[in-house]
Amino acid sequence: MLFRRLSEYFTRLEATTLRLSMTEILSSLFKEAKSSEIGEICYLLQGRVAPLYEAIEFGMADKMMIKAVAMATGITTGEVNTTFKREGDLGIVAEKFKIQNVKGNPPACGQKAKLTINEIFEVLIKVAIMGGEGSQDEKINLLGNLIREIDPLSARYVVRIPLNKLRLGFSDMTILDALSWMLCGDKKYRSEIERAYNVRPDLAFIAKTVKEKGMEGLANINPQVGIPIQMTRAERMSSGRDIIDKIGKCAIEPKYDGFRLQVHYCKSEYRNPKSEINLKPKIQKNLFNEEKKDYVKLFSRNLEDVTKMYPDVVAGVTKQVNATEAIFEGEAIGINIKTGQYLPFQETVQRKRKYNVEIKAKEIPLKLFTFDLLFVNGESLLSQSFCQRRKKLEQIVSKGEDIFVAKQDILDDPARIEIIFEDAVSRGLEGVMAKKLDGVYRAGARDFNWIKYKKSYAGKLTDTIDTVVMGYDFGQGKRTSFGIGDFLIGVFDTKIEKFVTVAKIGTGLTDVEWKELKIRSQKFKIDNKPNNYDVDNAMGCDVWMMPKIVVEIRADEITRSPVHTAGRMMGPSKSGNAQEVKVAGFALRFPRLERFRNDKSQNDITTLDEVERMYELQKQK
Ligand code: ATP
Repeated sequence: MLFRRLSEYFTRLEATTLRLSMTEILSSLFKEAKSSEIGEICYLLQGRVAPLYEAIEFGMADKMMIKAVAMATGITTGEVNTTFKREGDLGIVAEKFKIQNVKGNPPACGQKAKLTINEIFEVLIKVAIMGGEGSQDEKINLLGNLIREIDPLSARYVVRIPLNKLRLGFSDMTILDALSWMLCGDKKYRSEIERAYNVRPDLAFIAKTVKEKGMEGLANINPQVGIPIQMTRAERMSSGRDIIDKIGKCAIEPKYDGFRLQVHYCKSEYRNPKSEINLKPKIQKNLFNEEKKDYVKLFSRNLEDVTKMYPDVVAGVTKQVNATEAIFEGEAIGINIKTGQYLPFQETVQRKRKYNVEIKAKEIPLKLFTFDLLFVNGESLLSQSFCQRRKKLEQIVSKGEDIFVAKQDILDDPARIEIIFEDAVSRGLEGVMAKKLDGVYRAGARDFNWIKYKKSYAGKLTDTIDTVVMGYDFGQGKRTSFGIGDFLIGVFDTKIEKFVTVAKIGTGLTDVEWKELKIRSQKFKIDNKPNNYDVDNAMGCDVWMMPKIVVEIRADEITRSPVHTAGRMMGPSKSGNAQEVKVAGFALRFPRLERFRNDKSQNDITTLDEVERMYELQKQK
């Protein structure tokens, strides 16, 4: 398929905010695509050239792209810059100048105006993986030459993608819907496709498999060392009695308060799984060149590769894991080197850093408490019971100083759970985790196979809520100096695939936290409210942001408010006013920042369904 054709699809996608229309457009795109290009298309739809878990970013600033556009069109950088300031979108600027060029000088479109998706993809991936000295100029050259060759509409998107400005307003879930539509014209296969995607969260792999082999191809998707599995999540309950009533005899473990790691280990010669995209061998080698013994990869909750941050965990794994291949999970906690005691989360989290890693590792060594085994020696354990997985975990983790198997009690007495819970809380832990003995590991799902029982605070709400910062206001008074007065937060409504609001927060942050929020938000500012934000007019913001900063919020209670859109339903009133509010949305009472959750992405935040369940739970208290 020509890139020009894909660009037409991009334009159609941009023109709608309705999820159903997007799904339809995507499904006809997928039908039209060949299996040798559907993988590339899926990445490009996300504005990327690799799966989300690969840390491959373009590293292109506006300034660099201005130079590339100038080079491609023969317009001065000054003029490109001025037009950019007026238009606010370099993609549109490039398209306009290309149209001018085509009118004045048709050959400027070049003989290669008919570049295919794969040809353009190849250039984009080169730009993305290029690093080191002189790479900025080379990136500009590559893109400048490419933009010169292509038609105006393609230029619009070739410019936006490396700038991370494609933003078509849908998530990977809509792409999964569209794959089902491609096969059968509706959402029938969506949950099955999603299950496979949770085990292999690579859209190119899933799309290509479905295109080539239909649903049969997805029947036996197995985990693979090196490719993270979407992590399972826990439901909430607030007493030992409720837990036993729900899952019966169960395993109770401490809820360690550190950060979750998914460890991938291969003792023998490791080869990276072949990329799903059709790359020239040289690029393939450059990208996926890891072939080594004692391969260890660590993934965080949001599937970020964090291996380089934790060399002590890597060393512990090679020393203590007794298997040729394994994928397992655990919670890493820092210890105080003087007292040997576990450190609170705020201190452990200082280990999440890209620089001075070794120094910090000496200051705050980590211990890993493993609690689940998902894959061992070529065998997937996902559909085995928790008991079986745990038994095998105990077999492969040998005694040592860095890695331990989580403490566990198997019981069916609610009173015992309360005792263990109180003991855990008195030792400064968050509470306990209860695990269903015959529960399978449901990748990416939040269900009652795991239940978290956390200590309760003054308010009615026992758990915190993970939200994204959607925008902020400049503010008045003291906070003017921070440039940020209050900020709007939201959860995700999976039914309408939109971020919906639950609070605007203007108090409860320390000066340091306000400053941190301001600094971080500068990276994610955008000109307009994104299409997938559902915000009441009363909650508008001075500055809108991409949903990138995840903040954990504690509140006293979930209440109802007409100005918040989480779960709000609009409907006709008796007077016939179609927009009148019927049911107010969920809102947080006395919300305050608990902590920044750098280990989470927008895909890991609390969903509207969860807020609803927390609201119900709170009513029972
Ligand atoms: P929270 O914010 O409460 O930590 P979360 O949203 O990060 O929750 P959940 O899946 O809801 O994630 O809660 C489980 C988390 O608790 C896991 O992600 C893991 O990091 C942590 N944890 C600590 N101890 C255990 C344990 N023994 N078993 C499983 N998870 C544990």
